[in-house]
Amino acid sequence: MSSGRKPRARSLTLTLLALFLLYAPHSFAQTPEPIRYTVSFPAPHTHYVEIEASYPTEGRPSIELMMAVWTPGSYLIREYERHVEALTAADPGRSPLAVEKTRKNRWRVATKGASTVWVRYRVYAHEMSVRTNWVDDEFALINGAPTFITLVESPSRRRHDVRVVLPRAWTRSLSGLTAGLGENTYTAPDYDTLVDSPIVAGSPSVYEFSVAGKPHYLVNFRERAVWNGPQAARDLAKVAEAIAQFWGTVPFDRFYFLNIVGSAKNGLEHRNSAVLNIPLDATSSREGYLDWLNLASHEYFHAWNGKRLRPAELGPFDYENEVYTRALWFVEGITEYYADLFLVRAGVATRDEYLDALSEQIRSLQTTPGRLEQSAEAASYDAWIKFYRTDENSSNTSISYYVKGAVIGFLLDASIRRLTAGSKSLDDVVHAMFAKFSTERGFSGEDIRASVADAVGAAKGREMRAWLARVLETTAEFDYADALAWFGLRMTSPGGTPRAYLGVATRTENGKAIVAGIRRGSPAADAGVSLLDEIAAINGEPVPEGRFAERLTRFSPGAKVTLTITRNGAARSIDVVLAADPRHGWQLSPGPGAQSPHLDTWLAQ
Ligand SMILES: [Zn+2]
Repeated sequence: MSSGRKPRARSLTLTLLALFLLYAPHSFAQTPEPIRYTVSFPAPHTHYVEIEASYPTEGRPSIELMMAVWTPGSYLIREYERHVEALTAADPGRSPLAVEKTRKNRWRVATKGASTVWVRYRVYAHEMSVRTNWVDDEFALINGAPTFITLVESPSRRRHDVRVVLPRAWTRSLSGLTAGLGENTYTAPDYDTLVDSPIVAGSPSVYEFSVAGKPHYLVNFRERAVWNGPQAARDLAKVAEAIAQFWGTVPFDRFYFLNIVGSAKNGLEHRNSAVLNIPLDATSSREGYLDWLNLASHEYFHAWNGKRLRPAELGPFDYENEVYTRALWFVEGITEYYADLFLVRAGVATRDEYLDALSEQIRSLQTTPGRLEQSAEAASYDAWIKFYRTDENSSNTSISYYVKGAVIGFLLDASIRRLTAGSKSLDDVVHAMFAKFSTERGFSGEDIRASVADAVGAAKGREMRAWLARVLETTAEFDYADALAWFGLRMTSPGGTPRAYLGVATRTENGKAIVAGIRRGSPAADAGVSLLDEIAAINGEPVPEGRFAERLTRFSPGAKVTLTITRNGAARSIDVVLAADPRHGWQLSPGPGAQSPHLDTWLAQ
């Protein structure tokens, strides 16, 4: 209903009365009673979070409860229910109620006519990642999916309220959730919002800054002296401002970067927050710091691309089963392309640092044999069984949709600019898609293709569709020539000669060099080296502990070497001709002569 159709003559009072009569009883009936959780940490050093929850029964003889088995944004069935312990139920008078497990992640509680069922349980929380829980005596990271057991019911707007009880030594909790009435209380309008809003608690360092007039918070846990929090907040503010200006609209009231220092690099996006995991020494090297800025930029960009502009399949979610999409190359890869681009556009990275980052994406794609086995759309679809379930053979059979998607972003951007003589770019495509598809519906694969075709106009649209079909649906090698020519770039080799290449990854086990991975098509693969072989000697000279890779650098590409291998207790010799390291080259740099204005436009936009 649009306001333009309202009868003008009707008085405001009458209109309000009519609206009340029309909608009020309906909306009262539609508002279900909330589920209420109390979250506490009575012994945080034991890594447990305790939950007490109340569920309205609405007169049913039994209620069915469910814990999610995966977290949106991270495509693997994680069986969170395995960390649930000591689940009991009671009526409001504290009389026990019978609980029956009905599935790996479901519980049925007989209500005995009670209007509310109380359930207590505890969750083991000692997995440091962006999608699991962590509790220690210093802080807690509580994610929705692995923590909150909810009612099994068709998607509803049932409120989920949370009260966090802090250990005495902790100062505060923070979350993207709307604050409730009391201290450390929160309210989510529905289960999806609860899952999408991690809660952290402890005594973090908090840096507030404003982006497009909205408060943003960098929340650092384990900051210690090594992490330069104020500098990180200043640079992050510049990146966030550039991204917010790019989209032209900020679809949230405030934003939290929940940054946990001292863990492997990873991030997870939410509608008004992001969890970041980063190694402790990330600010002690320029490379590590740029890595962190890239991570924060990526997750922040997701607040638009991924959380709001999204494939139709990605929301509302089925939290108990896999959800398949062929568009993770767009959700993750295009986000990754812009994550690096906005570091240079915001002025926190140099042009050369940007070209290094893009070169690394291209190098990673072009030296991964799996690019010839898996298309960008197939990689997206099989994320559940490939990307999140890697083994020693993964690089031979699969390609990361982050990496391939980011390179597609670069080539797609260049194509649109070239075909429109610089009047349009990928920026226009994502803006148009955000305007069209960031509401309830989401986009389809065809919507992406049509949006790109629209940007270049009818005459060139057919060409772009054919190009997209090739890069998205097939494993054909990418052609960089047109993109390089448009931006005035060249693909050069860094100085020096390529290193010798065997094509194995090794690990040291009891002082021995053990083959842990073999690249398809490499000299090692062709010569007959096998997984778990021990490489005991090269040209008869024993390999000292941990020195295999270094020993290999003594040789040049083309050298013939004899490896002494021990396989299943028996020694044998394998002759191998070493190749040139395929990672050599794939380095972008500005071409000779006057710098291309297209390069400046692209990086400054
Ligand atoms: Zn992402």
